[in-house]
Amino acid sequence: MDTRHPESSCTRNFPTITTPWRTLLVLCGPAGCGKSTFAQRLVEQHSHYGLRATTVVSSDYCRALVCDDEANQQVSRDAFDLFHFIIQKRLLQRRFTIADSTALQAPARHKLLELARSNHYSSLLLIFTISASTCLQRDLERKRSVGERVIARHTQLLQQTLLAAPSEGWNQIYIIDEQNENVQLNIT
Ligand code: ATP
Ligand code: MG
Repeated sequence: MDTRHPESSCTRNFPTITTPWRTLLVLCGPAGCGKSTFAQRLVEQHSHYGLRATTVVSSDYCRALVCDDEANQQVSRDAFDLFHFIIQKRLLQRRFTIADSTALQAPARHKLLELARSNHYSSLLLIFTISASTCLQRDLERKRSVGERVIARHTQLLQQTLLAAPSEGWNQIYIIDEQNENVQLNIT
């Protein structure tokens, strides 16, 4: 466990993150910042630890599972029920798990933190502080775009998250910025 006091600070520009196998890694950041791409790269680079594509539980994929459309915001409740259900089942199976959602709202983070705690998991929050202009550029270049208004709203929520997260009780928090997207894991 990180010996730094999580209430006191977030850790910046740290290329290697040491964390136990029983970790719930929670991605947090605006739409288009690169969370899903990051998660995919992370599992590919850490397959020797046993990480697989199925390590990543994506709220958008859960939307698709319930209605065949990963962009459908009307099914959020059912999609997040499923998202939390799958994460809970994975933690019961003692699997390293990555939660891929924006997690920009405090109740959303609280739910994930509770899942980690109740399963005696370490909670690791990665906050993506990618600029709004980069998110917008990345969003425009992909098939499913969410647009400028959504990204502006998410950027506001990101600022609130940066203030709130250090006192939420996470075991570790790291900031991922544009100079520091190539994180390495040391899973113990
Ligand atoms: P959402 O919250 O909407 O699911 P996201 O944070 O998961 O968004 P991605 O879908 O991973 O974002 O990435 C958005 C776009 O940005 C994709 O087209 C992806 O290829 C591109 N992208 C991701 N990371 C990088 C990067 N480091 N450099 C350049 N382009 C990137
Ligand atoms: Mg995504």
